[in-house]
Amino acid sequence: MAIHNMPRPKKHYGQHFLHERGIIERIVAAIDPKPGEHLVEIGPGEGALTLPLLDKARVLTAIELDSELIEPLRERARAHGDLTILHADVLQADFTALAGDRKLRLVGNLPYYVSSPILFHCLQHTRAIEDMHFMLQKEVVDRMAAMPGSKTYGRLSVMLQLVCTVEPLLRVPAGAFRPPPQVESAVVRLIPRPQSLLPEAQLMPAIEQIVRAAFGQRRKTLANALSGTMDVETICGAGIDPRARAETLAPQQYVALARVAGRRDEISGHER
Ligand code: SAM
Repeated sequence: MAIHNMPRPKKHYGQHFLHERGIIERIVAAIDPKPGEHLVEIGPGEGALTLPLLDKARVLTAIELDSELIEPLRERARAHGDLTILHADVLQADFTALAGDRKLRLVGNLPYYVSSPILFHCLQHTRAIEDMHFMLQKEVVDRMAAMPGSKTYGRLSVMLQLVCTVEPLLRVPAGAFRPPPQVESAVVRLIPRPQSLLPEAQLMPAIEQIVRAAFGQRRKTLANALSGTMDVETICGAGIDPRARAETLAPQQYVALARVAGRRDEISGHER
């Protein structure tokens, strides 16, 4: 990357700036931005992705927490298109309000110290989001995309796959960043599922509780791991073998468990 007068990367903001031209091109090609789309970048940094994205989309909004990076980026972006930089913590961003009546395409080489909270924050706004392309630690992407039965399949896999399709796109070696992070990275595409395929909103807290309990003791049978949450009849009522382990259940089977548990609670509530 060209020599420039940018401040030193700050560790506490998770700053690892992309500099590998080939990787940047592949990420931008995977996003395939077009004029008229509502692109929002999380953490533009020095603009490694911002400028090529802007070249294609012409208009882009970016959310950056580090005030020192904002003016230099604004300056460099002038020749590329219309960039609006919001100086904010992305965890405070209201994506639904930002989207208005045009769904967002979220992109970002995410700061790893806060990548899980950012992911879960985005999931609160999936109705306002068209798709997401995020750079994350490869280990996190592996967990997001893991299938039932695999060692990496867990709470993150279930909760994410219930609301989005998850597609790992490319691996990115540490040397593609300045400074290089300790870990390998990967880019993932997330596409929110249509409303009609989502579990009922009121079921989500129960699903979360069941998934947490089941994977909290993933070596135990479901009957044991869920003993504080539901009885064996409920598990059987959902068509699930109580001797099975958490990691063998597909995401939809957790929805079935929450539904049956809810129904049984209702019945016993009426009986009281
Ligand atoms: N997109 C640039 C690139 O690929 O070279 C920078 C990526 S760097 C890994 C993460 C960026 O997110 C940094 O610019 C950092 O300042 C910014 N950042 C860190 N925490 C943030 C937060 N809570 N909200 C918004 N931006 C944040």
